[in-house]
Amino acid sequence: MCCYQMLAAVVVLLQGMQYIFCLFCLIFALSDRQGDQAMKCPYCGELDNKVVDSRLNKDCTITRRRRACLACDQRFTTYERLEVMMPMLVKKDGRREAWDRGKILVGLEKACEKRPISIERLDLFVDEIEHRLQDMGSKEVQSKVVGEWVMEGLSQLDDVAYVRFASVYRHFKGVNEFMDELKKLLDSRGDHDQDV
Ligand SMILES: [Zn+2]
Repeated sequence: MCCYQMLAAVVVLLQGMQYIFCLFCLIFALSDRQGDQAMKCPYCGELDNKVVDSRLNKDCTITRRRRACLACDQRFTTYERLEVMMPMLVKKDGRREAWDRGKILVGLEKACEKRPISIERLDLFVDEIEHRLQDMGSKEVQSKVVGEWVMEGLSQLDDVAYVRFASVYRHFKGVNEFMDELKKLLDSRGDHDQDV
C-alpha cells in the first residue's frame, strides 16, 4: 500500500467516524430532551435537572413541568405560558385602555342573565374575540370595533341577550330607539315570531 492509498483509507475511516458521530448527535438530540432546557434549581442553583411530569392546562396555553434537580434531588415546578400580545383599545374620547377579558365577560353575563347560555359558551365567545383581535396584528384597535363584534356575535347567540346588550351599548334614549333596534334584528332574521 503506497502513501496515497493509506491517506485515502484514513480519509474514508474519518468520514465513517464522522457519520457515526452525527448519528450519535442525532440520537442524543432525539432522546427525551424536549422541554428539558437548563433551568436553575431554586434550592442549590444547579442547572441540570430532569422533567418528571409535564402536563397542559385545559385550553392548552400553559405547560406545567415538574422537575427534579440532578444535584440535590429537590423537586420544583416551572410554568410555560403562551404569551399573547393584545392591542390597546382606543375609546371614543381617545383614551387608551388595556384589553380586559373579565370586563367583557361580566358584560356578556349580564346580558345573558337567565338565558340558556352556559358560561363555557361565553368564555368561547370571548376567546373568538381575542383571536380576532390578535389576527388584526395592530397595536391599537378602536373599542367600537370590539363592541360591534360583540353585538354581531350576540345577535346570533340569543335575541334577548342581544337586545339587552345593545340597549346598554348603544345607550337607547327611549322606547322608540329600542323598538327600532328590535325591528332591525327581526327584519334581519325574516322572522317576526321571536319571543323577545
Ligand atoms: Zn438542586
